Amino acid sequence: MLLLSCPDCRSDVEFANGRVVCLQPDCGRVFTVYEERIIDMPPTRIPSWQLSAAETHFQTVEDSYRRLCQVPFDLGTEGAAWGDIDEGATEGYLRFLAEQAEAAGQLLGSPDANGWIVDVSGGSGYLLRALSEGWRGALHLEAHLPSLRAEFNRASRAGLCNMVFVRGSYLRPPLKSGSASAVLAMDTIIRSSHHTDCFFGTSMPR
Ligand SMILES: [Zn+2]
Repeated sequence: MLLLSCPDCRSDVEFANGRVVCLQPDCGRVFTVYEERIIDMPPTRIPSWQLSAAETHFQTVEDSYRRLCQVPFDLGTEGAAWGDIDEGATEGYLRFLAEQAEAAGQLLGSPDANGWIVDVSGGSGYLLRALSEGWRGALHLEAHLPSLRAEFNRASRAGLCNMVFVRGSYLRPPLKSGSASAVLAMDTIIRSSHHTDCFFGTSMPR
């Protein structure tokens, strides 16, 4: 795939025999592909992530982040999927999600039928799912594999065939520089604002 590169050595990769392989001989990492559209590309190492500065109103979420994202990078099985919260969400929260998607859509303008849209650390994938139509492809980058599986299932049920799901770290994204036509980081910025109240000056809508 044109967008992807090795998260360790930044070299090109190729699909081969149902896997993705780094083409740099000295690296040669092999990345597993699930369901043909879920590509497992975590870096071997990620920089440590200091969360101590982030005062939180959502201790449980932060604890999840700590468990999920500290090295060693091992996110395969823990926790429920992001997006499960959306299933039983209040009207206010669902309205919040819809408003974010509408605002992001207005900022993006018309989809590029030849270009890719990427959601960095896309969480539940709600936003990318809402905005994916009309693009050549929509790539959901997320660190939590169970969430990617859940999102793959949601996208499949919705018939969104242009979505691709990549497990990786936004600290070392397995993406080529300049390869995307549009990049979203809504969940990274806005949802994280719930921990600091820095974006809207309010906490998560009820
Ligand atoms: Zn490599």
